[in-house]
Amino acid sequence: MKNNYKLNDIVEMKKPHACQTNSWQITRMGVDIKIKCLNCNREVMMDRLEFEKKLKRIIGGKNEQV
Ligand SMILES: [Zn+2]
Repeated sequence: MKNNYKLNDIVEMKKPHACQTNSWQITRMGVDIKIKCLNCNREVMMDRLEFEKKLKRIIGGKNEQV
């Protein structure tokens, strides 16, 4: 489950962003993962280990049914 995320997926983290939104889109997947807050468009970069630790659930791709 934890490794099922892919580029452009929408994910929920354990802690919401400072703007109280908890929907993020994965905008970059490399050694580091970059996620973008869907409310304020702020981007946060972290390494995969940290990302997986903070990840709560994968909501899915934008074009998939939620
Ligand atoms: Zn935000």
